[in-house]
Amino acid sequence: MGELKMGIKKKALINIDYTHDFVADDGALSCKEPGQRIESAIVSITKEFIESGHYVVFAVDVHDEGDEYHPETKLFPPHNLRGTKGRDLFGSLNEIYQTNKHRDNVYYLDKTRYSAFSGTNLESKLREREIAELHLVGVCTDICVLHTAVDAYNKGFKVIVYKDAVASFNEAGHEWSLGHFENVIGAEVR
Ligand code: ZN
Repeated sequence: MGELKMGIKKKALINIDYTHDFVADDGALSCKEPGQRIESAIVSITKEFIESGHYVVFAVDVHDEGDEYHPETKLFPPHNLRGTKGRDLFGSLNEIYQTNKHRDNVYYLDKTRYSAFSGTNLESKLREREIAELHLVGVCTDICVLHTAVDAYNKGFKVIVYKDAVASFNEAGHEWSLGHFENVIGAEVR
């Protein structure tokens, strides 16, 4: 840990919305197969970050049932409702989280908007740790991953997106976003 603090450029993994509602066949707003296909990539990247002592944030959407003031209420069916199975991390990512949630480099972040920065303390958590580089995985490429990446860019973070560890129910939106990451916000797509 001491060595990490001194030498290597600090990076964090932002693991976005990989939950039952966004990935499972019976999820409320699910990417389904494209989302399920990235499970092993998400899991191996997450394990590697956790085990090497890097900061790992699980940024997870939360909504309250029947919230008439929330803009998504008009746009999407109810999803990731507080206290429901829909918010559980999907598949073996849930096991990784449950096994490692006590570690001080693992942080679970409730978010209520697409971007993990919107209305959360994420930026403070990253600045306190002098983290300059954000690695993004999760769903959906063209919604929450996109909005988080754009905010990270505007705040001056270097952004890396793993193309085999992001997915969407909208294939055209997914492809468009990968190009946007690289060509417009200068992210590395790896
Ligand atoms: Zn939402």
